[in-house]
Amino acid sequence: VAVRTTISSRSFLFATHHGIWRVASGRSGSTGNGLLATARRCGRLLTVILIAALTRGGLVDAKEPEERFDLVIRGGRVIDPASGLDGVRQIGITNGVIRKVVAGTLVGDELIDAQGLVVSPGFIDLHQHAWDDESVWLKVRDGVTSSFELEVGTANVNQWYQERTGRLPLHFGVSVGHIPVRMKVLGDDGDFLPAARSRASAAVATAEEVARMAEEVRRGLSEGAVAVGFGWAYTPAATDEEILAMFRVAAEHHATCHMHLPGRGPTAIPAAADAVRLAGQAGAALHIVHAQSTAAAVTDELLRAIADWQVAGRDVSVEVYPWTAGMTEIRSALFSEGWQQRLGIGFGELQWGATGERLTEESFDRYRQEGGLVIAHFNRPAVVNAAVHHPLTMIASDGLLGHPRNAGTYARVLAHHVRDLAGIDLMPAIAKMSWLPAQRLETRVPAMRQKGRIAVGADADLTLFDPETVREGATYEAPQLPSQGIAWVLVGGKAVVRQNQPVRSELPGLAIRAPAAGD
Ligand SMILES: [Zn+2]
Repeated sequence: VAVRTTISSRSFLFATHHGIWRVASGRSGSTGNGLLATARRCGRLLTVILIAALTRGGLVDAKEPEERFDLVIRGGRVIDPASGLDGVRQIGITNGVIRKVVAGTLVGDELIDAQGLVVSPGFIDLHQHAWDDESVWLKVRDGVTSSFELEVGTANVNQWYQERTGRLPLHFGVSVGHIPVRMKVLGDDGDFLPAARSRASAAVATAEEVARMAEEVRRGLSEGAVAVGFGWAYTPAATDEEILAMFRVAAEHHATCHMHLPGRGPTAIPAAADAVRLAGQAGAALHIVHAQSTAAAVTDELLRAIADWQVAGRDVSVEVYPWTAGMTEIRSALFSEGWQQRLGIGFGELQWGATGERLTEESFDRYRQEGGLVIAHFNRPAVVNAAVHHPLTMIASDGLLGHPRNAGTYARVLAHHVRDLAGIDLMPAIAKMSWLPAQRLETRVPAMRQKGRIAVGADADLTLFDPETVREGATYEAPQLPSQGIAWVLVGGKAVVRQNQPVRSELPGLAIRAPAAGD
């Protein structure tokens, strides 16, 4: 009985003394022992033997011509959380894109000797406020290759991108922010956050004003904003209905909603539940910023609640920064009547950002008239450590001039949390700083699918650091000192940090924007 033998064209054949075996085929085929099948097998066996003979005799050169790359990173320990890779590899980069990741030797026009260094996807910061030249270079020296202002955001997305295009060493992106939109619609004289008694902070908006805000948010998204920002703590008069209206616009555009929750300590938990409920109602994705700063002593409880909400199918994520002190505008609603009780601290726990001095009742009153940024020491190290090590949290800096988180957040995680405390392994720590934030944005921003990974086709945004010496330089007293031990930082394949030194002539940063509707 003749049984048909089918061998797909993608089959790989090899000969043994038993005959020919088919392996690794995409399609299945039947096997048989009919005459036809035997003839086919013999024919293929001959072919295999012939190829083997020719190759051994040097008549057929199976080697491909050697590929040459713009840049090769050699000898580094490559850690890629997306694939789980942790091993010594060579990386070939051409035109700013990773073309090859292999154990063997690659040839390049330029070579980086990465022996002793960890090669990580460049860090992605979802929460950055300071964009002055000094701060931007401190971010880069802390290993950040993409930086986003997503909490406060802007009311003028096109202008925000125009001001930065062609001028930055790292990639950059922004949200359209409910805070600045509310300041624009209701009128406010603050330049960053609304003052406590301003309309933008304290007034309930009319239905018509809420509609205008929603229109502003929609316009920002149509201009390519990557997300929608919220600081409900700074706009306490915004009603559930107003926030829900903004969430609905965000959901229409698949934009994540990055929110500084209202409430402080224990009251942050019901506030988070409210935000999660409203986001669910709108179908929007919620991202809670600096959970350890908002929830303080009950941060662990908030993280447990977020885990439960995730299990229940809510689209909610969370970020933290690795510092026990927070920083904000002294004129904001956070310091309105009763702040000592709400924050659980007194004047002595406040440190003036511009001078580093601790405050008294007298200097507090004076600075609250003038306005400016103040550091508030209120968290215990155990709370912050547990939050940084928690499997749910991403790392984001909330970078502001005058607080060490601006310059040292990422190196601090690697030095203090991975090395000194051994509270978290390198792989999950790197995931929190690169792959997880990339994934959070990629539904709306497809460009993020090529970031936060070390894989063929990914953008060559890479951070190379010495795991033994990496450390933040910034302190509360000297917040603008650069991180150490971050040897190389590549943005789009260009070295913006070379052998621990910034390369200030390189400005390869590109705008990261959501595609316009219909793209
Ligand atoms: Zn912030």
